[in-house]
Amino acid sequence: MANEGAGGQPVYILREGSTQSKGRDAQQFNIMAAMAVAEAVKSTLGPKGMDKMLVDPTGNVTVTNDGATILREVQIDHPAAQMIVEVARAQDDEVGDGTTTAVVFTGELLRKASELMDKQIHPTVIATGYRMAADKARELLPAIAVSVEKSDRKLLEKIAITAMTGKGAEAEGVMLAKLAVDAVLSVEESGKVDIDNVKVEKMVGPGAMASELIKGIALSKSRVAENMPRSVSKAKILLLNSAMEIKKTQVDASIKIKSPQQMKTFLDQEEAMLRKNVDFISKSGANVIFCQKGMDDHVASHLGKKGIYAIKSVSESDMKKLAKATGARIVTKIEEIDPKDLGYAGLVEERRVSGEESLTFIEECKNPKAVTVFIRGSTATLIDELERALHDALRVVGVVVEDKKVVPAGAAPEIELSLRLKQYASTVGGREQLAVEAFANALEIIPRTLAENAGLDPIDMLVSLRSKHESKNGKNFGLNVFEGKPVDMLAAGVIEPLRVKTQAVSSAAEAAVMILRIDDVISSGGPSEQTIHEAQMQAQRQLAAGRMGGMPPGMGGFM
Ligand code: ADP
Ligand code: MG
Repeated sequence: MANEGAGGQPVYILREGSTQSKGRDAQQFNIMAAMAVAEAVKSTLGPKGMDKMLVDPTGNVTVTNDGATILREVQIDHPAAQMIVEVARAQDDEVGDGTTTAVVFTGELLRKASELMDKQIHPTVIATGYRMAADKARELLPAIAVSVEKSDRKLLEKIAITAMTGKGAEAEGVMLAKLAVDAVLSVEESGKVDIDNVKVEKMVGPGAMASELIKGIALSKSRVAENMPRSVSKAKILLLNSAMEIKKTQVDASIKIKSPQQMKTFLDQEEAMLRKNVDFISKSGANVIFCQKGMDDHVASHLGKKGIYAIKSVSESDMKKLAKATGARIVTKIEEIDPKDLGYAGLVEERRVSGEESLTFIEECKNPKAVTVFIRGSTATLIDELERALHDALRVVGVVVEDKKVVPAGAAPEIELSLRLKQYASTVGGREQLAVEAFANALEIIPRTLAENAGLDPIDMLVSLRSKHESKNGKNFGLNVFEGKPVDMLAAGVIEPLRVKTQAVSSAAEAAVMILRIDDVISSGGPSEQTIHEAQMQAQRQLAAGRMGGMPPGMGGFM
């Protein structure tokens, strides 16, 4: 990069080896790269979406049609493409569903922007129009949504089922939906749902239908000593955050023992201290201990003699869940145990679930704020699939319990929003109006893609959906991809959380605006410079060939 300096000398401000592309070129390349990402996941959208096979460098194969998973697994280097990956990540963090929708919509916003730029509309104007449209969309969406109550279990189950449609584990969908609803309703606390409080344990065993919700926690651990009871009912539970063992002597703190008598005294003292701790515990009334740290065999055997069940080396996250499930408070100093610190479970039991493996079940808790879904299945692959499906179900049910708002599926909200935004556009005026219209049209990519992926004619479907929405009582009509016609999705019980749509609109608009506003890409040396240059060259070739939607390099590895 050279500018004219004072004496007519060029002034170089970039390091040697840097590359720069400016203006329309930079924008075009960025838009192409971003659109390529959208194109890559597009065919997975909807219940009839296809799967992708991902092969990682070590040869591991994942087959999925989950947009978030695909974008997480694939290496994407291009900076603008990376911004689209961020859209998917934000969607996944905020809602846990709708990642493909958000990415496909972002791609379409950019495609429409590129068309406007060809008509000499300045990117800044497009950005402003997109922002206005996104604001209006966020205002309109709640009016399209329907309120629900968390007591409506059937409806919550339907939301879970919609989120899992087309994701593999369909035969088990109803069972998983019920488990997800039970789990979410248990852990809900003053209107908030943190699904980290739903622990998932899994073990190969009988069929998937043996999966169950445990009103408490399952730990893949067994009791410390054989002489401990195998099962304790009406358990009073101590959660201990300190070790129950003699501290190892430090290297520099040597103890000089001169006689056997002295040795005995020393050991007796240690022993006495440990016994005192066991006494403290037993006096508190605790009959079950979960210890986050270590525990001497000696101590364990003393505890066993007193009929106390103990587990050691419990992870910090399990300790927190145990506290939430049993109502216990985590204790650090054994001398300070208060009976009020103890938690409760109807039953604590070690059970052998399959072959040699034993688990400890802490169940029948009263109003537990942490629960466990214990997933069973005939193979490890099936179990993993069930776990992924369950995770999605937990997320969407959690979101609906928090927000209490749902929308019909099958792109009903997109069509409705598109129509209403077109009306709004006519009130905007100026060149921004064109951008608002472009935004409204871009929303139609969702019904189009749903139709395309189901082998239906996208134009026909779009026309009949639009005409439904323009008629009275038509705003809940979405595309039934199985029958190839619009149906009232609310009446059919195919529904999604409102947040899926508000989040998709927000993050897609934000990313598109951000990409549009870049008119200068400066990359300073390093390995990524080469990649960007190659990506840009390829984008240019594709542009010349009139072919969109190819993959820039650095996105290889799949398809
Ligand atoms: P995303 O990552 O965006 O969630 P999906 O592959 O899950 O992608 O597809 C979501 C789309 O499929 C949404 O538009 C949703 O409304 C639609 N959809 C889900 N279930 C159905 C159904 N039974 N009939 C029609 N459309 C559905
Ligand atoms: Mg989905």
